[in-house]
Parts: sequence; C-alpha cells; structure tokens
Amino acid sequence: MKIFYYDIAVSLPLRQCFTYSSELKITKGTRVSVPFGKRKIVGVVIRNIQKPDFLKKAGAIKKIIAVLDEYPLFDKPIFDSILWSSDYYHHPIGEVFNTFVPTELRKINNKKIEALREFSEYSVNEDDKKFDLTKDQEKAVKALSKSKGFSPTLLYGVTGSGKTEVYLRVAETFIKNNKSVLVLVPEINLTPQLLSRFENRFNGEIGIYHSKQTAAKRLKTWLKAKFGSIKIIVGTRSSALVPLDNIGLIIIDEEHDQSFRQSEGFKFSARDLSIKRAQLANIPIILGSATPSLQTLKLVKENKFTRVDIPNRVDGNKPPKLIVLDINNSPLIGGVARETIEAMQSTIDRGEQVLVFINRRGFAPLYQCGSCGWVADCKSCDTNLVFHQARNRLICHRCESAYSVNSSCPACKSNDFNMHGAGTERVEEVLKSNFVKTPIIRVDHDSTKKVGAMEAIVKKIHSSDAAILVGTQMLAKGHDFPKVTLSVILNADNGLISPEINALEKISQLLIQVSGRAGRNNNLAKVIIQTRYPDDINLNKIKTGDYMKFASQCLSTNEQMNLPPFTTLCLLRCSSPTQRSNVDFLEKAVLILSNRTDINVIGPLPSLVSKSKGNYRHQVYIHAPKKTFLNKVLKFLTTEFEKWPESNKVKWSFDIDPIDLS
Ligand code: ADP
Ligand code: ZN
Ligand code: ZN
Repeated sequence: MKIFYYDIAVSLPLRQCFTYSSELKITKGTRVSVPFGKRKIVGVVIRNIQKPDFLKKAGAIKKIIAVLDEYPLFDKPIFDSILWSSDYYHHPIGEVFNTFVPTELRKINNKKIEALREFSEYSVNEDDKKFDLTKDQEKAVKALSKSKGFSPTLLYGVTGSGKTEVYLRVAETFIKNNKSVLVLVPEINLTPQLLSRFENRFNGEIGIYHSKQTAAKRLKTWLKAKFGSIKIIVGTRSSALVPLDNIGLIIIDEEHDQSFRQSEGFKFSARDLSIKRAQLANIPIILGSATPSLQTLKLVKENKFTRVDIPNRVDGNKPPKLIVLDINNSPLIGGVARETIEAMQSTIDRGEQVLVFINRRGFAPLYQCGSCGWVADCKSCDTNLVFHQARNRLICHRCESAYSVNSSCPACKSNDFNMHGAGTERVEEVLKSNFVKTPIIRVDHDSTKKVGAMEAIVKKIHSSDAAILVGTQMLAKGHDFPKVTLSVILNADNGLISPEINALEKISQLLIQVSGRAGRNNNLAKVIIQTRYPDDINLNKIKTGDYMKFASQCLSTNEQMNLPPFTTLCLLRCSSPTQRSNVDFLEKAVLILSNRTDINVIGPLPSLVSKSKGNYRHQVYIHAPKKTFLNKVLKFLTTEFEKWPESNKVKWSFDIDPIDLS
C-alpha cells in the first residue's frame, strides 16, 4: 500500500512543521487531526513530501488520525498568502493559520467545513442612488471598474469627496459580473455608516466579519462566503483572508489607519497582507484615503501603484481653515483655553456642532500627592494610572487593572492629592459647566463599550442641533457629521515632539482627519489646534492643509535619512520577569550580528514602556537596506535562538515594519 508523507502545521506556537503519514491522498490546506505528545490536535496539511531521510524504522513517523473536512480551508491564493506571511513576519505557521481560521475550526469538535447550498440573489437597489456622480467621481469609477488582474490603486479623495459612493459603484460592476467583493475597514464600530451604505445599496446579505462577534456567527459568515452565498464582506483586519468564492475586488477604506496593524501576538499589517492576497489572486485592490500612508505614496511614485484622485468635496466647499492657537500664556481650564471656549460659544449660538478631540480617555492622566510628589502607578506596568471619575477608580491603560482611589498617600500619609492633565471625562465636565444647556456627547472607549452604544451615539449626534462632541480618535475616523463646523484639537504636542520614527506621518494624518470632520456643509468651518509650540516648522506646514505636499516632503526626508519606507526595520522584542534575562538574551543576539556589515543594529535598550503586565521589556533595532537582507538575518537568528538555553527564559518576537515603537 502506498504511504504518503505530509508536512503539517499544528496549532501551537512552533516555528516548524511536523511530518506525519497517511494512506490517503490529502489536498493542501485540509484540516486533519494528529497525535501530538499525549494530545490529539488539529493540524493543516502544508505540503506533500518525499519519504523523509530520517525514517529508519517503521513507526518513527506518526500517522494522521483523521481527515476532518471534505474541503480544504482555503484556495491557493489565500493558502499561499498565509505561507508568505509566516515567512515575511517570521511567525509560527500554525498561529498564522489560526489568525484566519474561525475559532470553532481550530479545535477538535463536531464542527466541519460543509458546503452551503443557499444562494442569495444580489441586486442593486436603484432607489438608493439619490444623486448624480460628480465629474471626478465618474472618472474614478470608470478607471477603477475596468481594472483587471493585479492592479493596486490609491484612491486619494479629500474627506467629503464621496469615496464611499465610488466604492459602491465599482463594487456594483464586480457584483454584476458575478464576482465577490471584500471591503476592509479599520474598526467596525467606527464605520456603521459605511456598512449601512452597502446594506442600503445592495439587495442581498452583506456579511460582517470581525473579532468581536460570537464564534458561531463568525463561522457561519465564513462558510457562507466560502461557498458563495455571501458576495460582499465588510470586515476588520481579521477578515483580510476571508475565503470569498470568486473574489474579484478588495477595497481597503482608510488605508493609512494604524488599526490595520495587529500589534499583539501575530504582528502583521492587514493592508500589506491584502495587497499580497490581491497579487496572488490576480485581482484589483483599491486603497482609499484622504491621508495616504507614506508607504503607499512611495509605491505610487515608483509606478507600482496607480493613483486616482477626487480632489474636491462633493458640496464644493473648501476644506476648513486650520488655526494654530498658542496656549503658552492662556490659562487652561481642564485642558481648554478661554479663546477656544469663546469660539465654541459662537458656533453653538449659530445652532451648529463642535467636535473636541483629545487623545486620552478618563479624567486625569496623573494622580499625585501634593505633599511628597508620589505618583499613582501600575504595579505591573511602567505607566501612570489614569483617574476615571465615572468609575471612581485609578486605571492602567496598558493592562486595564483598576485600583481603588487612595484615601491617604502611601508614601507620606498626606491626603492632599492633585490631578494633572485632562482626559475626555474632565473635558466633558469642564464643558458641561460652561455650556449648561448644550448637549455634550462623549465618544471614547468607555462610553462605547456596550453593544449598540456607538450606533446610539451617532444617531444622537445626527438628531441634535447645537451640540458638543468630545472624544478620542474614535471621533476622528471616517464619520460624516454634517453639523460640525468647528473642530478643536486640545493637545497636538505629544504627536509633534514624539520620538517615534513615523510620528509626523501619524500626527499629520490625525490633524487632517479631524479637520475633515468639520464643515462638510459650511465654508466658514474651522479647526483650532491648541499648542505650546506655535512656531513648530512641521505644524506650520500641516496647517496649510495640504497633506500631499507635507507627505511628499516627509517622504524625501525619510529617503535622505535612510528611514522606512525606504529601508526596513525590525524590532527584536523581548520580555520576561527579570531584566537580566532580557539583556543576556539580547546581548548574545547583538554579538552574533556584530560582524555583519549589511545591517545596522542598535540595542539592547529598554522599551519605551519598560514594563508591561508584570514583565520587563527590552528591544533591539535591526535596520536593513532591503527586505531580502533582513529576511536572511532573521532566519539566521531564529535558528540560533532555537538552540540557546537563554531563549527559554524570555519571550521573544520579531516586529517587522513596526508602527509603534513603544
Ligand atoms: P468620503 O468617504 O470621501 O469622506 P462620503 O462618501 O462619505 O465621503 O460622502 C460624503 C457625503 O456626500 C455623503 O453624505 C454622501 O452621501 C454624499 N455624496 C457622495 N457623492 C455625492 C454626489 N455625487 N452628490 C451629492 N452628494 C454626494
Ligand atoms: Zn505623599
Ligand atoms: Zn498595568
């Protein structure tokens, strides 16, 4: 009898496949159950191999227990995207599979991949087309609808230019050609409008796929998409590799958004992975943004991506003016300057809305003893605790631990405490006392936790007249609030003076995005940026509102300075309960790289957040001119690490193309 041998990826954090045998011929990508130690676990067939050399005696290779499904998990383009990303990000293959396999298919249970034969008809709801396209929209739709094969396109459209309408029309063409469409959004909660616009435009189920759904719901949607009964999926980064039968188009909305990057566990960029998928599936991909990432702009410059512009707002209005407000000599009340309050008052008096942006939730970010200077900090992390008034707790924003509020100082027993700085709660309180009759609507992680809360808030904003919206970046993303004519940015300074390499990219995107929320219907709209650095050279460039000009300057600077996206960066991260173990491990790593001239290595250094959830954190920067070099170095390191006793004392990981250096 013929015996087949297979390399199998098991769902464990291991950087290798294991060889098993079977009498059956099994297709790549099929789930099987295999013995592993004393356990029985799920594995995925990666490849069929020749009889292995090490097979000396019969029985040395274990047998596959059972084939679990009639169908493989994924088609070839997705399967190859998974192999590519495991290789590119140097992450254990089994864990990469798990990221894209619904939870219920990761364990041995009675769940199976079974073909669904429900067919839902898709048609376009013509009544939903309430206006004619603008000339620019028409051009964009025309260009994008005829894309064939792998053709990545940046759809650059200022906020309010009607990008969503373009997505809808292009999607329509593909749907009519019997293709399916995947739409990726940064966060599902923040884009109820995009989702509902797809639902209104198409008759037929629009699948929603994201990690906050129940496992059963996710499996159902996944299966429906796989077997063609759902043709449009709107989802977050975990849906980058959702199997869609006969996929024809991928759309990435707000492609610059940091949320496409997963920063825990398998650290990957859903945007980059989707581009890879589009390439392997040989289909077009649209990357939409009003503030495109430097990486995408670089690819456009190199003619690897096409660029389609929608330069004007549909309403014909000019983007709002950005006004820099020097707060060095203004007393702040809970973070808000008097001049700002006055500007808000006149907006409210006109019956319009104000959006106040502050990048911090809670009441006050620093809780300090007034006598001895003791500061409340987290026992497990290197972070100060944030006072939350609504819960009357001090909360760590890194590990979410909640501490009760001290009645006396643990250091000097004084009960004289001061709170410094302001978060959304404090700003809300200050504004309530200044604008007694105006509804104040707070939008942050805490106010939107409950299911449906965000939808309710959005509804309230739309149904109110004069109102003040206070919130974190949740407010800055993608929304369409037509009554907002004044946006206020309370603290841009952290972003302007941040040491992170892509700080300027981030802060310029944020300022332009927040300003995009203002004045969709009003030529007099403006944005106030409170700052202690009114002469900052970058702030003054951003202030012109010309994002593309600023971005192209950043791009030239990065090229001259050999920074990403012109070179590649990897953070070798390490964490453990003792600093010694981290340093020993990383020093040894740096030592074996010391004779390499093709890379630049810096470290070990403590991470910006040097302790998190009880573990110390250190890192080494590995900077290489080319991905190929970096890849070789990381492969070499991985093999070494697996041999070292030091590796057992730490948790190490590679963070490739990191966006958050903390
Ligand atoms: P973007 O995503 O580029 O910020 P949206 O697609 O949200 O812009 O469009 C902004 C608003 O303009 C929406 O309310 C949309 O319904 C409306 N809109 C889009 N295209 C047109 C058009 N051609 N004529 C009139 N209104 C339009
Ligand atoms: Zn004290
Ligand atoms: Zn903590």
